[in-house]
Amino acid sequence: MTEPTPASLTQQEARDRAALIEVERYDIRVDVRELVEGDRWLATSSVAFTCREPGRSTFVDCVAEVLSATLNDVELDLSTVADGRIPLPELAADNVLVVSSVQSDTASGDAILRSVDPQDKLVYVWSSFEPDGARRAWACFDQPDLKAVHGFQVSAPPAWTVLSNTAPEVVLDRDDGGKLWIFEDTPRLSTYVVVVNAGPFHELREQRGDHSLGLYCRQSLKAYLERDAEELFRLTEQGLAFFGERFAMPFPQERYDQVFVPDMGGAMENWGCVTWSDSQLHRSPPTHAQRAYTGLVLLHEMAHMWFGDLVTMRWWNDLWLNEAFASFASAWASVSATEYTDAWAAFLAEDQTLAYQQDMGPASHPIRTSVPDVGHAFASFDAITYCKGQAVLSQLMAYVSEETFVEGLRAYFRGHAYGNAELSDLMGAIGEAAGRDLTAWTASWLDSAGTDTISLVGTALLTSSPDGGEPRRHALRVGSYVRGDEGLEQRSLLEVETTGTTTYLAELPDADLHLLNDGDLTFASVRTDESSLEVLLSAAAQLPDPVNRAVAVGTAWDMLAKGELSTGDFLDCVLAVLASEQSPGVVEPFFALALRAAEQWSPAVLVPRRLSRVADVAAARADEPDHRTAALHTLAWAASQPDHFDLLDAAAESDVDLAWRVMVRRASLGRYDEAAVADLLARDPDPDAYLRGWGVSAARPVEEAKAEAWERFWHERSVPAGTPMIDFARCFWRPVQHDLLVPWAHRYLDEVTTLSGGGLLALGGMVRHMRPTTCDDAWLERATELANGEDTQPVVRTGLQIAVDNLSRVLRARS
Ligand SMILES: [Zn+2]
Repeated sequence: MTEPTPASLTQQEARDRAALIEVERYDIRVDVRELVEGDRWLATSSVAFTCREPGRSTFVDCVAEVLSATLNDVELDLSTVADGRIPLPELAADNVLVVSSVQSDTASGDAILRSVDPQDKLVYVWSSFEPDGARRAWACFDQPDLKAVHGFQVSAPPAWTVLSNTAPEVVLDRDDGGKLWIFEDTPRLSTYVVVVNAGPFHELREQRGDHSLGLYCRQSLKAYLERDAEELFRLTEQGLAFFGERFAMPFPQERYDQVFVPDMGGAMENWGCVTWSDSQLHRSPPTHAQRAYTGLVLLHEMAHMWFGDLVTMRWWNDLWLNEAFASFASAWASVSATEYTDAWAAFLAEDQTLAYQQDMGPASHPIRTSVPDVGHAFASFDAITYCKGQAVLSQLMAYVSEETFVEGLRAYFRGHAYGNAELSDLMGAIGEAAGRDLTAWTASWLDSAGTDTISLVGTALLTSSPDGGEPRRHALRVGSYVRGDEGLEQRSLLEVETTGTTTYLAELPDADLHLLNDGDLTFASVRTDESSLEVLLSAAAQLPDPVNRAVAVGTAWDMLAKGELSTGDFLDCVLAVLASEQSPGVVEPFFALALRAAEQWSPAVLVPRRLSRVADVAAARADEPDHRTAALHTLAWAASQPDHFDLLDAAAESDVDLAWRVMVRRASLGRYDEAAVADLLARDPDPDAYLRGWGVSAARPVEEAKAEAWERFWHERSVPAGTPMIDFARCFWRPVQHDLLVPWAHRYLDEVTTLSGGGLLALGGMVRHMRPTTCDDAWLERATELANGEDTQPVVRTGLQIAVDNLSRVLRARS
């Protein structure tokens, strides 16, 4: 039996409902005691709300089995409940709605997940509601602009800890067993940022400044949390201080908790109680890039406390802004307030490269798009929304100056705290602080798709837009470099603001290299003149700043993706940089690009030789302490020669994580050793180590191994969301196994077009992470057709468009 699909709230319905009612408070009683053994999450939601036009009717959302419902003490007719909505007829001016419900779908990860630790069998429960999961947990008016105070009371087994948005006021013994946790009232919050987590969590707590900081994880992971706790506490303290000062508003609650939970993709900005995927608790000492990334996630979710939770978008059409702002703010705080000062260079080398690539093809779209119903909220969530959106916001800060930007933000938070706002409110506040009208800026950057190209021809900058229309205005720098004893030395740095298609540079000194977009101030594809290009490709390593080395490598990747540069030439460029790159923030992204070029963008006959080149460069860096782990990880993907494996095997003796990686490489080459997998499983203390074993098996160039992996991923859905899913997919799709994998690429299309259940984010994750890395022409045709199909779900459509565009470029580069 398949459940009927609940209706997806439309923007118009939300508008109408917000015009009619105002929610004062929710009192929500949750009972998780049955989840120790069973699957039932029980809730009674009491909603006090007013109606501006008494006598009118509306509906409340509840995608759970409704046990009883009363409105103003009158029983509601439960036969009228349909599509996840309870009709509410004949509203009074002041209303009290009480709905008791039970949710038994607690295993699929759709808003609520009950999971059992594979090692100690302890049960943990988390909730995560964005965008409309709260209605699965209890009855509520599930839209972001009906904010209300939430008061939670949670009945839980005696040995469990319950975590919610605020501190528990009191914990009482219940007569019928277990404990009753009563939490302080929240401030006015949107329904999607409240949370209830429960389980026998391991807790660490420290007072830092005015805040009580909590860290939680499964018991089986406590060694990993304790190893990294000092860093997490420090970053949290640094972030709260930075944002509190920059936004002129300290985080208004003493308690700030971060809870690491199993089988969750990413992290979620619940007010005062951020949940994280516990795959982010590194099972081996993290590399610089991993630590920097953890910092970015931490700061991203924290920025949402202000931008998202305190001031919330009115509707999901501004979700891109919510996310782009948080990502922008995380890099800003990282560089300004933590030890991870090369966050911008790392962002450029990794995420922004993806945004440029997607922005050049049919999967491109304007940063802001319409969201007619909640089902579309995450449909266009990709590198354009997150990464290009972030790049554009950082450019806005450069355009108006940091202090002006901050002044605008302060006014925005002051004016809308505990309420809702729209993009125009933010731009209005920043524009007012800057004394300029940002309407044209906003439209040109947010409402048109694609990336402008800026080329240096003689002493002119030629700017073109992808659709041939008027290009955007760009504020950028042109750096001129000459070869000296110390490599390339900067001779001059020109500040330029382009207008229209041609901008003449007043003075351009003689130089070996003119670097367009020096310092990465604007979002554009850049092409320097021909003689500069030679130097750019051959001597990028000599540029004095990691941001500029990333501009150089990013330009080379842009040319590769557009068919202007061969994969071999790209590899020459990036491997030359990697031979000496010292900035830890860009070493790993550069290695990742080199691997992609070698194994995915190369014709099959050249893959072994090219991987071997990448491996040689990685092996040469393995004895530098700062880069050793990153180099060994790369080597483990690329190892080709006996000396590569000797080096890895020696290092893996004391490093279980590396041992798994080497095993994946061997398995992908047909050297699978079942006994060795069993030995390593016995050695590895990680409760989730079995997933590493699955990865090794999935990498084998064997039909049965692929079939088994496929079953686990798509049908049993037993690969947890987040990093485990990404790692598993990477093991499965070894590009060099092209002939074996092409039929599986076709099966991917069957799977994604019949997917259902598990929640929008989880589905999006499966579609995105399991994207094939190889295909044939027939696949491209079929995927294009499906992407254009009327019935295709929005998240699937976007995923297919991106895959088609990327793989078309890959196939062209291989031929
Ligand atoms: Zn976010």
